[in-house]
Amino acid sequence: MDTDVDDTCKAGGEGEKGKPIVVLLMGAPGSGKSTFCDQVIRSSARPWVRICQDTINNGKSGTKVQCLKNAARALKEGKSVFIDRCNLEREQRVDFMRLGALQVEMHAVVLDLPAKLCVSRSVKRTDHEGNLQGGKAAAVVNSMLRKKELPKLSEGFSRIVFCQNESDVQAALDTYIGLGALDTLPHGCFGQKNPDAKVQLGIMKFLKKVDVPSNARSNASRGQDSAPPESTEVKNPICEGRENISSLSDTAGEEGKISDDLVVDSVNQNSSLNDVPTLAFPSISTSDFQFNHEKASDIIIEKVEEFLYKLGNARLVLVDLTHGSKILSLVRAKAAQKNINPKNFFTFVGDITRLHSRGGLHCNVIANAANWRLKPGGGGVNAAIFSAAGPALEVATKEQAKSLSPGNAVVVPLSSASPLHSSEGVTHVIHVLGPNMNPNRPNCLDGDYLKGCKILRMAYTSLFEGFLSVVRSQEKLPKGSIEKIGSKPSVLLGHSKDAPKIFSLKSDQKIKRDGVYEHERSKKCKGSQNEVGSDINVSRAGKVNANNDNTGGSNSKVWASWAQALYNIAMHPEKHKDDLLEITDDFVVLNDLYPKAKKHILVLARCDGLDHLADVSKEHLQLLKMMHAMGLKWAEKFLLEDASLVFRLGYHSVPSMRQLHLHVISQDFDSKHLKNKKHWNTFTTAFFRDSVDVIEEISNHGKATLMDEESVLLMELRCHRCRSAHPNIPRLKSHITNCRAPFPANLLQNGRLVLAPSDT
Ligand code: AMP
Repeated sequence: MDTDVDDTCKAGGEGEKGKPIVVLLMGAPGSGKSTFCDQVIRSSARPWVRICQDTINNGKSGTKVQCLKNAARALKEGKSVFIDRCNLEREQRVDFMRLGALQVEMHAVVLDLPAKLCVSRSVKRTDHEGNLQGGKAAAVVNSMLRKKELPKLSEGFSRIVFCQNESDVQAALDTYIGLGALDTLPHGCFGQKNPDAKVQLGIMKFLKKVDVPSNARSNASRGQDSAPPESTEVKNPICEGRENISSLSDTAGEEGKISDDLVVDSVNQNSSLNDVPTLAFPSISTSDFQFNHEKASDIIIEKVEEFLYKLGNARLVLVDLTHGSKILSLVRAKAAQKNINPKNFFTFVGDITRLHSRGGLHCNVIANAANWRLKPGGGGVNAAIFSAAGPALEVATKEQAKSLSPGNAVVVPLSSASPLHSSEGVTHVIHVLGPNMNPNRPNCLDGDYLKGCKILRMAYTSLFEGFLSVVRSQEKLPKGSIEKIGSKPSVLLGHSKDAPKIFSLKSDQKIKRDGVYEHERSKKCKGSQNEVGSDINVSRAGKVNANNDNTGGSNSKVWASWAQALYNIAMHPEKHKDDLLEITDDFVVLNDLYPKAKKHILVLARCDGLDHLADVSKEHLQLLKMMHAMGLKWAEKFLLEDASLVFRLGYHSVPSMRQLHLHVISQDFDSKHLKNKKHWNTFTTAFFRDSVDVIEEISNHGKATLMDEESVLLMELRCHRCRSAHPNIPRLKSHITNCRAPFPANLLQNGRLVLAPSDT
């Protein structure tokens, strides 16, 4: 590798100056990471700190968190930092990449030296800080190299230097030693010998002396990949699968014993990543629709957090084109603050239509920031996705919906005829429409962020629900029936003609009929922003009447993914134990996530196949009685804390969420979550079936009387105490805060109301 010491942009020149740098060193034990740090620290004019987990704890081995804390402290003091750790796997790097949020430059120096050399060095050493020496070192080096994942710019690095021999290492040393406190280095990827590697040259154009790596020079001279302007897509320099295999094969050549295993492992590793359901989504409304970035990033984090626990191993990835993306860096920083698990949610720089081919990231679902007509054009991500997907997407979109209203999303299965499917492995596109703050675009909200935020929340909810529904539908398929992007495109093409069937009938029909996702809480906003047609109805509860889906366990109902949250809790309470009030073999007791009163809890049955009251028969009588007893116990506990409360225990005739659950709800209805007629009427009309009555009816007739859900919205808004009628929720709410009328006589009978014992 040519030395790039002369690329340094000296103080006083153009460009950003004087940012501290974090250099993640990467390499097997024995590759010379610590020596590299020591040499730079000894000779550089810039203040450097070496962070090493083997010594972080007062000279003893410590934790990654300690490393991160010390690194952050040094950076705040204006020092640059070496992270001296093997960092060979992407996941091991992720936490350190969060340091990028501190307005620093993130560099990688990869000491990709022959395995044989690393092994022989580490075997010989006698005073290693981490005590990795002698015979065991060889095994550790080999095992680490098996897992090697070379770094990519898209992980958040602005500069990556690969050193594949000792002279490369010396050149890199010279570069960092010569770097003054205010100097910067060119961005891009240097020293990669893969002929396909693309180099991010943009910034180099602006430097006085540009030392272009030889492979980039030859590509440029052939007219390929000539330097893009800084603002364009950051090209990923490495095709991950191929690069890993080829470089590991090189290593294997020198380390014959490990060669075959390494190649096989590398392939397996890639294909297992391809199996992880992943949604790539652009930031909604922040570009052309000019939504405030701070607010938008808060909402993204809020919604991601809300959905994380439902995701299982599925991943959400926020994508933008450039490393300079403000929304990406805001979201990254906020995700780090909230300790969001980077396995489930991370940001990625790249073109959303080429994440697999260019970035090595397989996303089976991508989101499109669509227009309300669901048509191509307009520029931005919408134009890019429609263009990359070809006519197949337009045709499939039309089958699902003709238009979209803000806050909603529509899931569109993509046939194998689409290049986005065949080359990138995208099986579904989810169109989503966010709020518009741009006066030059239709339905501008004129700066009304109250409404805007509501709609943006709805948009993300609808998007993530749509994704979950795809994930669940794929989970139900026999293993291997989901197409994989693998190392053999011919296999993919062979399978792909069957692709539309993958989501056919069972899950697909659900998606088709129920393809527009909107959140329960969205109804009030619906139509308030814009009148463009939402011509697809969603039933209360994410249920549709398709009788050919087994998403739900009973009565041939289909439950949307978001309506399964309680079911998931009932089946796996151990996963949610921090959020639950009580777990027994038969029940789970939990706070209602959107309580409609001061106290509102749910007693959830744990047996599978009992989705709702309509499934209940005489054989469940004992269970109903036990649920009632459990509800009473909790109501009484609350009454001890606040004797002014009054409780009702009951079931919704037609619940919105799957899995039989008993509501235990205080009758103050003092809650910000109680927002609309549906909320009110489902708790205060005959739609709410008192537990005592249900038990009696089941016992006498084997089934409970249920009121249909349509009637709920036809009924007036009436005070649950004095029965006076009110024109809207705000008026009703202000009335009930003061109404002290006695409860209607029917509620005072049969123990339907649960009150604190009177003193007398
Ligand atoms: P129902 O309409 O009878 O199905 O009521 C479902 C209840 O579950 C509603 O009161 C929701 O506010 C509540 N809810 C929805 N999602 C969750 C969740 N993840 N955890 C706890 N409660 C939830």
